[in-house]
Order: sequence, then structure tokens, then C-alpha cells
Amino acid sequence: MIVIGGGLAGLSAGVSLAEAGWRVRLFEQRPFLGGRATSYVLPDGEHVDNCQHVTLGCCTNLEDFYRRIGAQGKIKYFDRLLFQDPQGRTATMQAGWLPAPLHLTGSFLGFAPLSHADKKSIASALLDIVRGRGHTEDLDAPGGISMLEWLRKRKQTAGAIDRFWRVVLVSALDEELDRTDARFGVDVFWKGFLSNRTGYRMGVPSVPLAELYDGCKAEIERRGGEVNLRMPVRATHFQDGGVSAVEFDGGRRESGDAYVFAVPHEVLTDLLPEDVKQQELGLAQLGNIKVSPITGVHFWFDREVMQEPFVTLLDTTTQWIFNKTALYGGKNGSEKGKSQYLQLVISASYDLLQKPRQEIIDLCLAEVRQAFPAAINANLWKATVIKEAAATFSPQPGVNRWRPKQQTSIERMYLAGDWTDTGWPATMEGAVRSGYLAAEAVLRACGTPKRILQPDLQPDGLVAMFG
Ligand SMILES: Cc1cc2nc3c(=O)[nH]c(=O)nc-3n(C[C@H](O)[C@H](O)[C@H](O)COP(=O)(O)OP(=O)(O)OC[C@H]3O[C@@H](n4cnc5c(N)ncnc54)[C@H](O)[C@@H]3O)c2cc1C
Repeated sequence: MIVIGGGLAGLSAGVSLAEAGWRVRLFEQRPFLGGRATSYVLPDGEHVDNCQHVTLGCCTNLEDFYRRIGAQGKIKYFDRLLFQDPQGRTATMQAGWLPAPLHLTGSFLGFAPLSHADKKSIASALLDIVRGRGHTEDLDAPGGISMLEWLRKRKQTAGAIDRFWRVVLVSALDEELDRTDARFGVDVFWKGFLSNRTGYRMGVPSVPLAELYDGCKAEIERRGGEVNLRMPVRATHFQDGGVSAVEFDGGRRESGDAYVFAVPHEVLTDLLPEDVKQQELGLAQLGNIKVSPITGVHFWFDREVMQEPFVTLLDTTTQWIFNKTALYGGKNGSEKGKSQYLQLVISASYDLLQKPRQEIIDLCLAEVRQAFPAAINANLWKATVIKEAAATFSPQPGVNRWRPKQQTSIERMYLAGDWTDTGWPATMEGAVRSGYLAAEAVLRACGTPKRILQPDLQPDGLVAMFG
């Protein structure tokens, strides 16, 4: 079995196939595992995440994967989310004593940055989602409808859109509301915030991301397989209607009984000959899937400027600030002279792509200083900006019709990647789901079917009672 790509999709397919008895040979082009959800050492020696990654309680397959590879203890879960606006008004979101879907009602009613009219309009839209159990009729419009259109149909106030829907969804889906299929937006609220008391809990790694994957290599090797780093696949060969080999630098070829291509969709199209792409509709249409950017800004201060583990900012370019020093248990960035390390995240950061790095640093520093007065006199010891222009696929209206299944009609060829047909947006959960689905497809084709995909979180509280 050959797996191409050592991101979460390739790793989850590889580990689950190894567990099912296959000898897995995984090839990754970079010198480390984890793909987009990884960390690495900068030229100055600093170990940074490619970008802060978080998971939610509703991401059941990612949680299962972390358990399989022994990484579950490296994720800290938080059930209190903190929001802050430039006027210094703060609000928290934390489950109270009421059952789902009412568990966040207390926090919502006390959410100071929203007016009474904002809250009233939000409550009625949320009720619509609950009534339809995560589905409303207009989501089925041909070609999909955008989240912004969905919200306008429900007469949401400007404040509700800017300070509530946009805040949650741009971070979760990495796209602006007018370019997001409402199906994904409604799903985030249903699975994350309404159907279950624990779906919204936020999981944050307590180690640099690459350290989460130590167990993958061990698991694949323990079962007779291998993980090969710095081994980019350059071409794919086909014979008799199926994949016959993959080719590496120097013309070296490797063959297997099955091949899981777990590379980004833009890379896959370069690895396949034109006639093969035309043969499989799902491959011919990949060019319709667009991408969207995320920018991460890393700040090292000479003193502590923030106490919370993370905070969401409202009405600013900066969307999230993570206190990496606290999240790493004081281990990273706590050397003398750089006593607090913060990571800022800006999703759908189209406006920042062309901006010079120093301009982005100045803009974000001003926002950090406004949010945390202790930063005003602190010395910014070091700063780095990491722009990911193709961070995720863009969840544009109707995008699901372009996402191919993991099983193709081409013999021995399987696909995995957050961009394949999982129903989920581009997330770590989506990537792991795709890997599990690819592994299930391989096992099915070999006559040894096995269920690997984990079920969604079960609805609880009133949602379960009246389901
Ligand atoms: C900045 C940023 C922030 C994000 N934040 C979050 C978040 O907070 N929460 C969340 O859930 N998701 C987040 N995501 C999305 C998440 O990282 C991805 O959805 C997920 O990691 C995708 O996994 P994948 O395996 O499908 O693809 P990838 O991670 O892209 O893996 C593909 C792998 O294939 C390798 N490869 C490419 N070409 C070849 C070749 N020719 N030969 C061999 N190997 C090759 C690549 O090096 C890579 O390792 C974020 C993404 C980015 C970029």
C-alpha cells in the first residue's frame, strides 16, 4: 500500500490501514509530518506552528485519531471562550446548567458587545436551525446559497452579522460570509453550539504541532511499514486502466497494490496525465475548487502582556490571540528576555496578502496594545508573519459538487484530503475523515470491509428528547 502525503489525511489513512494489516509505505515530500497542521524551526532557530490550530468537541474523528496515535494527552480542552471589543467590553461563552440547545443561553444573554436587537435576531435564526435539526429548506437551492444571503433572509441586524456570525464563521471556515455556502455555516452552529453541550469545547495543542505525530511513524513501522520523508512523488504511471507506479527524483519507481493520493488538490492535478483527468469527472473538475488564505502573526514580548490562554477580538483585523507561553505550560518563549510568546490568527486574510510584513506587524501590534494595556510598555522582542495563501479550500456556495469521493473509478487509485467529499469544511477533522473514508474504500474493494469513520457527537438534552 502506497500513501502519498504525510498530512492528516495521509497519516490517518496510513495508520488505519496499517492497523487493518496492510504494509503501508508513506512518502512525504517535506522533512517532517503534519502537512499544513505542523510546526517547524525557523532559520533563527525558533520552533513555531505553521499556524495555531484548534479543534472543537464535535470533531469526533480527529479526537479518535489523536487517541490512536497516543496524542490525546497533548490537547487541552477549554469550555470557556472569551471575546473582547476595542471598547474593552468582554463577554464569555460557557455552558450553563440548561440542557442543549439552551446551554449557552446565559452567556448569550449577557454578551455585552451585542445589543438587545442583535440578540433577538440571532435567537430567531438559531431557532430556525434547531427546528430543522441543522437543516433549513433554502440550503437546498441549486448551487447553494451564501451564508450572508441566508442571514439576510432571516433579517439579521448589522451588529449580529459583524459581531456574532462573522466572528464565529470566518474563523471556523476561513472565508467571508458572502463567499461561504450557508450549508457549512449552519452546520457549524448545529454541531458545535446547539445539538450538544460539549460540541463547542475548544481543544488547543499544548505542544508544537509536529510533536503530535510522533506516534504515526511508530504505529506504521510497528506493523512492518515505512514512513519516508523528503521523498516527493513527481509523476504517476498508469497501465491497463489502473495506477501502476509512482515516480520519484532520479526516475526511481515504486509500486503497490493500492495508492492513496493524500496531497492538496492543486498538487494532484499536476501529478496526473491529462487523459486520466478527463476519464474521471471528479478529477477533471478539481480546478473549480478555489483556495483562501490565513495569516499568522507571532509576537515575542519581553514581559507578560496577557493572562488568558486565548481571546477573540471583535471589530479588529486580528481575530484570535493565543497565549502560547501559557498553552505550552510556560515552556516556549519563556527564556530570559522573551517572556511571552503570542500567536495571532487572521482567517480569510485576502487584504493582508499584498501588504509588507512590517505593515502587518505594526497593525497587529497596535491592536494587541489596545486589547492589553500591559503591552504598551512591553518591548516586542521579535515578530514573524507567516502568510498561507492557499490555507484551505474556499467553502464557496455549491463547492461540494466539485469534491470527489475517496474511491475513484481508476483501479487501485484512492483519494484523501480535506478537499475530498466529506461534507466537512477544510479542517483537521475533514482531513482525518477523508483518510478514514479512503481506508474504508480500500478495505471494501479488497473484500474486507471495516467501519473506521466515527459517528458524530450524539445530540443531547432537549434536542435528544424531542429528536
Ligand atoms: C494557516 C492555517 C490555519 C489552519 N487552522 C486550522 C484550525 O485551527 N483548525 C482546523 O481544524 N484546521 C485548520 N487548518 C486546516 C488544516 O490544517 C487542514 O485542513 C488539514 O491539515 C489538511 O490536511 P490534509 O492532509 O488534507 O492536507 P495537507 O496538510 O496539505 O497534507 C498534504 C501533504 O502532502 C505533501 N505533499 C505535497 N506534494 C507532495 C508530493 N508530490 N509528494 C509527496 N508528498 C507531497 C505535503 O507536503 C503535505 O504534507 C488550517 C490551515 C492553515 C494552513
